[in-house]
Amino acid sequence: MGPPGAGKGTQGALLATGLGLPKFATGDLLRDAVKRGTPLGLKARAVMEAGHLVSDDIILGVVREELAKPEAAHGVIFDGVVRTIPQAEGMDRILAEKGRTMDVVLFFDVTDEEILARLDRRRTVEQRPDDDPPAVATRLRAYRDQTAPLLAWYEARRPVRRIPAVGTVEEIAGRVRQALGR
Ligand code: AMP
Repeated sequence: MGPPGAGKGTQGALLATGLGLPKFATGDLLRDAVKRGTPLGLKARAVMEAGHLVSDDIILGVVREELAKPEAAHGVIFDGVVRTIPQAEGMDRILAEKGRTMDVVLFFDVTDEEILARLDRRRTVEQRPDDDPPAVATRLRAYRDQTAPLLAWYEARRPVRRIPAVGTVEEIAGRVRQALGR
């Protein structure tokens, strides 16, 4: 977990490759659904483009589907999948039903100033509609109000590793490996 632009996608991909596990990002799945115009995409599109969070029910539905896939049998790196306390509770229920658990939570820590600079750069490269300034403001607000409280929630229940997420990609990846003892 971590704010938008914290590097969850980049580091999650490196970690997944390093551990030989699949990576699953609800943001990627939803963007793909929007691009393909599926019923899920049609439902999520306006909410995403404005920078709001998609409903907990939708997210828990896709988590359930993802965890049922054979590729997920040996573990999954979740990238930005849990963003509200009800999602975390739902995730715990789904995992418990399957006799599984979340081993560790990585929190990518960056300042708001750094995030704004990164999202501004990403906007010119990836042209994501939700990297536009008004949507970025909404996403940061959603993060602050709905996702940031999850950190304390997880700290009370799971091992949480805080990763200072400023530096080069390789430096941050090194901190991740160290935090996981790999
Ligand atoms: P991301 O690519 O992670 O920045 O996600 C892009 C957008 O997808 C977010 O701004 C939300 O609209 C939506 N989204 C992705 N994951 C979640 C989630 N776990 N809960 C709610 N909305 C999500």
